[in-house]
Amino acid sequence: MKKFKFILILLSVQLIGLSQDLDYAKKVIQKLSSVDFKGRGYVENGDKISADYISAEFQNLGLIPITRKSYFQKFDISVNTFPNRVSVRIDGNDLVAGSDYIIESSSPSISGKFQIIKTSRSQLDNDSKLVSLVNKAGNSIILIDSRDRKNENPEATKKIDEYINFLKYSPQANIKGLIIYTSDKLTWEAAPEQGLRPIITLIKDLDINSLNSIELVVDAKFIPKYETQNVAGSIKGTTDSDSMIVVMAHYDHLGKMGKDTYFPGANDNASGVAMILNLAKHYSENKPEYTMVFIALSAEELGILGAKAFTDNPPIDLKKIKFLVNFDLAGTGEEGVKVVNGSVFKDKFDLLTKINKEQGLLPKIDIRGAACNSDHCLFYQKGVPCFYIYTLGGIQAYHDILDKSETLPLTEFVDYCKLMIEFFNKI
Ligand SMILES: [Zn+2]
Repeated sequence: MKKFKFILILLSVQLIGLSQDLDYAKKVIQKLSSVDFKGRGYVENGDKISADYISAEFQNLGLIPITRKSYFQKFDISVNTFPNRVSVRIDGNDLVAGSDYIIESSSPSISGKFQIIKTSRSQLDNDSKLVSLVNKAGNSIILIDSRDRKNENPEATKKIDEYINFLKYSPQANIKGLIIYTSDKLTWEAAPEQGLRPIITLIKDLDINSLNSIELVVDAKFIPKYETQNVAGSIKGTTDSDSMIVVMAHYDHLGKMGKDTYFPGANDNASGVAMILNLAKHYSENKPEYTMVFIALSAEELGILGAKAFTDNPPIDLKKIKFLVNFDLAGTGEEGVKVVNGSVFKDKFDLLTKINKEQGLLPKIDIRGAACNSDHCLFYQKGVPCFYIYTLGGIQAYHDILDKSETLPLTEFVDYCKLMIEFFNKI
């Protein structure tokens, strides 16, 4: 009876622990992807508000700042932004930024009413058609109907994409701007430079046969030098404080497109920040054997620039990193996780799958080779053994206005966190 009671107490303590983990993760994700954090870009100090929040959490959890004075590692970036007005009007109706269209992030400013020259992918099938289109365009905007690709063979697709890239980016294409009319999902990116002409991707259901003109206001601001910051801290190891285990996640996202539209970035990558904060919380309560370092990186979306700043001027000795895990997209897991560098560090991958199997945590752990698709890459190139792990399945919102905390399932978050703790304890 006594023993039974003891097990019950143990079990309930563990359950409370797990639900607290999830509550804390939800709170972090909800905060970071709220409108107050401005999409964690470089408009209205989105990055700084986020960095302040994360460093305050680090401080609450008792982490040691990465430099003697501060959790921040500052560095400069250049970035194209849309802090002011962005408006697309057709027949006197305002379309909605983010859901009807996106302004490609490299776009410069434009303002006025423009004639539209229409073409389609299928009509753009040889050089002379491209030349005559450019000649005809003059001061007009070219609209390319890209909805129907059924009859394109791979060779044609490649050629047409080259033509479209020419129209988008070439200094020789003397055109005012470009609209890609598509039925694909809208996906935004961040741009470290400003391009030559505005590019709009439009998905609003329209009668394009009767579409002859468009009113545009794009107020772009290119910032050649903007100071942003990585945030990092540590918890000292009890037995081997000289070896480090590093967990990291980028906290930046895409920011704002005009005054009214922001990109929440709940899965990408408020979820990863929630993971490292959860791990920080765990290790602040259960002191680790090796020193644990926690890094929240900025400017990943601009081309892993936070990781570049960190590895160019490392505030810690990279040679002392026993292992590093980068968390980017940690918020689903219905179909398990994928491990980049799994086949490179096969013994570590085998350890991870062994723990997972023994404890029945995630539905699947997929292996992948090296890939330079997130911040871990620059650490790997400097010889740091590492994984980049991302969750699979669940909601497909990505780089769009639908990547919100309200709909992020966090299906496997608690088990994922538990798996990582077991992994770090056995590494
Ligand atoms: Zn990301």
